[in-house]
Amino acid sequence: MIRDIRMLGDSVLREKAQPVPEITEELRALLPDMYDTMYAAEGVGLAAPQIGLGIRVIVIDPHDEVTAPFALFNPEVVATGSETEKSEEGCLSIPGIRELVERPTTCVVEALDPAGEPVHIEAEGFLARILQHEVDHLNGVLFLDHLSPIKRRMAIARWKKERAK
Ligand code: ZN
Repeated sequence: MIRDIRMLGDSVLREKAQPVPEITEELRALLPDMYDTMYAAEGVGLAAPQIGLGIRVIVIDPHDEVTAPFALFNPEVVATGSETEKSEEGCLSIPGIRELVERPTTCVVEALDPAGEPVHIEAEGFLARILQHEVDHLNGVLFLDHLSPIKRRMAIARWKKERAK
């Protein structure tokens, strides 16, 4: 079932999401909805707060040739590389706005998979970017927060203008 995506300005996007103490059937049952919602919006990742749930769950599909779609519970970025790169980024909660965001090109993420098994992911490039973006969501952080104050103000103004149409 496709859920409503919460938009910029919704307070749930600014709250720190809570870790999942245990991966229950109920939580696993949420994943098909998260995938449906991500694919319907043509996204490459979705975090639970984006559908109004303050829990640490993300789904990701980078649409490359080797990475199967996957879901993570309680993901944390435990390390990032020293090299950074600017690349265009958007967000399903801020549709229509894309900006160059500087991020580390590599990162290490630790999490639990839907079976409750620990996973350790060493990611680079686009996947590393998506992981950082989605874990940011769980900490109440949006990609706009990585922009300079002036660029952020301009992006928000443009978004408001788009929404008012
Ligand atoms: Zn986003």
